[in-house]
Parts: sequence; structure tokens; C-alpha cells
Amino acid sequence: MMDTPTLALGPLLHEGKAKRLYATADPRLCAVEFKDTATASNGRHQVRLPGKGKLNCQISSHLFTLLEQAGLPTHFRGLLGDGWMLVQPLRMIPLEVVLRNRAAGSLLRQLPTVPGQPLEPPLLDLYFKDDALGDPFLSEARLDRLNVVTSQERIQLETMARQVNSALHQALGRLDLDLVDLKLEFGRDGSGRLQLADELSPDNCRLWDQRQSPDSPGRILDKDRFRQGLGGLVDAYKEVSQRIQALGLKPQHHGSRVRL
Ligand code: ADP
Ligand code: UDP
Repeated sequence: MMDTPTLALGPLLHEGKAKRLYATADPRLCAVEFKDTATASNGRHQVRLPGKGKLNCQISSHLFTLLEQAGLPTHFRGLLGDGWMLVQPLRMIPLEVVLRNRAAGSLLRQLPTVPGQPLEPPLLDLYFKDDALGDPFLSEARLDRLNVVTSQERIQLETMARQVNSALHQALGRLDLDLVDLKLEFGRDGSGRLQLADELSPDNCRLWDQRQSPDSPGRILDKDRFRQGLGGLVDAYKEVSQRIQALGLKPQHHGSRVRL
């Protein structure tokens, strides 16, 4: 039997709260390791949840594949093995682009609205991605002052973010998963083209199970299980992963595994 070829990792480029990014011998590719840690309150609360990294990697690779098939450019270049994926290295734009299909989370603390209220058209909020500053909400004037996107890029980025939200909302809805809100990150490739980056997992979105009654805590299939101390996070992510497999997408496999 042939051994699976291995991919040697280069230097660790970034270690964040949920992932590690490594260089590879190919400058067009980075390896991303999804960690088993869950964090809340900007990293102040942290636990290890075995199995979470692999599930987030699986879910993300399926959803990136879905978006690629819908013609939306993403950084995903293939799975590498359990909990690892290959991506195109990008110059990241330090913005968190949040799309809200229903009212939840911070919106409930900041606007007079009721939990779960539908938002049509979806609300798009921009935050400055900066842990030290606590990822603050950006007004138009503050965004101008930050100077991290041109006005043309801003339009492109918002258009793409709405298309991503709409494609995911529709696809997940067919699986009885209600996409309440999600956070997206974008970067520029070598020729300045915008691509969707980072991850698409229940760590970065809210997903409510439409097969459960509206008041049941079992309805929550995302990181709110950790934020609210409900437990059962890994089982919830497994449920999401299993339903997404039913979409029959076949994320590309790189055909090698990581050599540490
Ligand atoms: P954080 O840094 O916010 O704690 P993570 O643990 O998820 O988050 O770390 C992943 C980091 O990698 C994030 O800072 C994210 O912006 C960055 N990133 C995601 N995709 C890419 C990419 N394709 N190229 C370069 N950096 C990326
Ligand atoms: N989110 C995220 N990273 C952040 C902040 C928010 O992935 O640093 C996601 C969060 O999981 C939710 C959406 O963005 O799906 C909207 O979050 P919200 O503004 O309601 O903030 P939170 O409830 O996390 O305080």
C-alpha cells in the first residue's frame, strides 16, 4: 500500500485564539490548524473541547466549497487531513463584517429589538478587528478615518458579504438550520482581488435548529452554548457537520497530510 505523501510545514506565521497559520514550501499556500479551544469575552474565558477543531475544519471546508461553486472567491485550497486545511495566504483587511438575519447577541444590548426578530434586508455591521481595542463597532466616519479599504473595495466587500450570507442562509435553511447571524473576514490576494478568508463555522455564526421548539436551549447549535454555559458544544457542532454532509459537497483534498 502506498503511504500518503506528507507536506512539510514552514514557520508558524500566526497563532490566534482558534487557529494556527503555518507557511509551507509553496508560497501560494498556507496550512491552517483548527484548535480545540473555545474562547469567549475576547479570549478571557477559554476551555479545551476535544474534537471541536476537526469539526470546524470540516464544516468550513464544506461551506467554502459551496460558495466557490456559487462563483464566490474564497481562500480555501483543500483539506489536508483531520483539522487542517490549505488556504491562499492573503493580506487581511482588519474588519469583521457581521451580517444579521435576525436580532441576537450584541444587537439586543444596543437597539430596542426582541430576540429572533427578522431583519429584512439583513443588517450589515462593520467592526475594527483589534483584540486590544475589543473589536469596536465602526461608524462611517471612523471607517473613513481608519483607511483600511477604498470606497470601491468597501462596496465590493459589502456586496460579496451579502451574497455569502444569502447563499449560506438558503443552503443551511434547507437543512433546518436557521442562520441568525455570521461574521466574515476578507483579504486581498497578490493582484489585489478580494477573497473571503478565515473560517465558516458555528464559532463565527449563530445557528438555530428549526427542528427544536423556539424556547428550547437545544435549539442553539453554535458558540452561544459555551458563552451561555449550556454545555454540549461538541455534540451540537457534530449535528451541524452531519447535516452539512447531506448537501453532498465534495471539498477538495490536497492528497497529503501534515508533517510536523
Ligand atoms: P484571531 O487571530 O482573531 O484570534 P484565529 O485564531 O482564527 O483568530 O486566527 C486566524 C488568523 O488568521 C486571523 O487573524 C485571521 O484574520 C487570519 N487569516 C485567516 N485567513 C487568512 C488568510 N487566508 N491569509 C492570512 N491570514 C488569514
Ligand atoms: N462574532 C465573531 N467574532 C467576534 C465577534 C462576533 O465570530 O469577534 C460573531 C458571533 O459569533 C455572532 C456574530 O458575529 O455570530 C454577531 O456577534 P455579536 O455582535 O452579536 O456579538 P456577541 O454576541 O459575540 O457579543
